[in-house]
Amino acid sequence: MERTYVMVKPDGVQRNLIGNIVSRFEQKGYTLAAAKLVTLSKETAETHYSEHRERPFFGELVSFITSGPVFAMVWEGEGVIKAARQLIGATNPSEAAPGTIRGDLAVNVGMNVVHGSDSPESAEREIAIFFKEEELN
Ligand code: ATP
Repeated sequence: MERTYVMVKPDGVQRNLIGNIVSRFEQKGYTLAAAKLVTLSKETAETHYSEHRERPFFGELVSFITSGPVFAMVWEGEGVIKAARQLIGATNPSEAAPGTIRGDLAVNVGMNVVHGSDSPESAEREIAIFFKEEELN
């Protein structure tokens, strides 16, 4: 069954939005296969965001994502990779439609409360960064 990696970022955890975000995936009909609260090391953050290494905001991104615990999740179900991106909304919350997580809960492109894998390859790579095979249900 298709799986994707979704992560509530430190701003979302701090603002007590875990339940709200989990609910949206549950209500849509997806199944939680794994979840944990974890504080990322600088190394893990740099690995996760390696595609952005050359971007001007890379340092800021790594320091933000390691600033407090994140809630790491694996969601499972038909078409979940694309559907998760739709539930999350546009990267920049000012462009995210109302009804999406970012459209409803965020205003800032850096602190945009949640991450979701953007392709099957990213999903597989990111799940493996955060979870061991035996942690997946
Ligand atoms: P994510 O990977 O977090 O789900 P995304 O796939 O929607 O986000 P990307 O283009 O992969 O967006 O950017 C990764 C993250 O980098 C964004 O979520 C955002 O937090 C941060 N980011 C993107 N653009 C900027 C920017 N111009 N300034 C600051 N941070 C940015």
